[in-house]
Amino acid sequence: MDDLSQVIADYKIMEKAFDNIRLVDPENQRVLNYHEKELGNTDVACYAFWGKSKVCEDCVSIRAFQDNKTYAKLEYSGDQIYLVTAIPVELQDRRVVVEILKNISDSLIYDSNENNQYAEIRELLNRMNNRALKDPLTGIYNRRYINEKLPIELANAAIAGNCISIIMADIDFFKKVNDTYGHLEGDRTLSQFAKIVSSALKRCNDWVARFGGEEFLICLPGANAENAKELAEVIREKVEQTEIICGDNKFFITASFGISTKSPEMGIGMDKLLEVADAMLYKAKHNGRNRVEL
Ligand code: GH3
Ligand code: MG
Ligand code: MG
Repeated sequence: MDDLSQVIADYKIMEKAFDNIRLVDPENQRVLNYHEKELGNTDVACYAFWGKSKVCEDCVSIRAFQDNKTYAKLEYSGDQIYLVTAIPVELQDRRVVVEILKNISDSLIYDSNENNQYAEIRELLNRMNNRALKDPLTGIYNRRYINEKLPIELANAAIAGNCISIIMADIDFFKKVNDTYGHLEGDRTLSQFAKIVSSALKRCNDWVARFGGEEFLICLPGANAENAKELAEVIREKVEQTEIICGDNKFFITASFGISTKSPEMGIGMDKLLEVADAMLYKAKHNGRNRVEL
């Protein structure tokens, strides 16, 4: 043991560095136990610590799990602020995440006597943590959110014995919008398209994200293929009928939609679900665009 290791041991540095340490399976959102070198599942939801009833929007552990890399963030719970560090480890051939939680409310250098300062910090943390998951152009979720949230949605649907559907949407002949009106107007068109889609989602668990370019992914937990088709048709019509207004330019666009559904008895993962939606989107394009295929 070198001298510094001795200091760390003598002064119980590690004990002072965290309040709570736990093992989690972020895909299934469960706390794990590890006893006599045996990894075991528990029924404890990892998000319960935060006083939440569903998975955290900006879960740092799913990111650590997927990238196999350590991540840290600041988060609040009630009026307490925590430093959360997520470290991926391989235990018994299974990747799990060690979460280290430290309440740093009293160690932050700010004047806690000022009443509204805590509200400011909360808002700042919200903005910081959300920014990593939002597309700056359209304000909807980004590709990272899809990668982190979709596997969790699939796991939850499997546990609950529910269907889950996704719709892949792609604006038709979007290159022509750019070529005709310029790239900036193209950007505004993307924003307006995102608004049309967002406003069509009525159920609180449904969400839309920008998959990339002029492609968008809509996730519908609990929806079967028919439900998804119905909604895709509503969106398709809304897009077709909404005039896009960009400065002095007014024009109409259309979009094509590919649907993919996972029923509880199907053992498929995110990649397969996306692959099928993409194939259906291709079919919609091939069959004349401004269509829904499933
Ligand atoms: P299709 O009906 O087959 O989908 O034709 P399309 O023209 O929409 O598809 P294509 O893939 O040929 O062109 C997509 C265009 O989207 C090309 C690219 O420049 C444009 N694009 C991608 N991202 C952005 C962006 O962020 N802003 C703008 N303005 N254009 C973008
Ligand atoms: Mg397109
Ligand atoms: Mg495209």
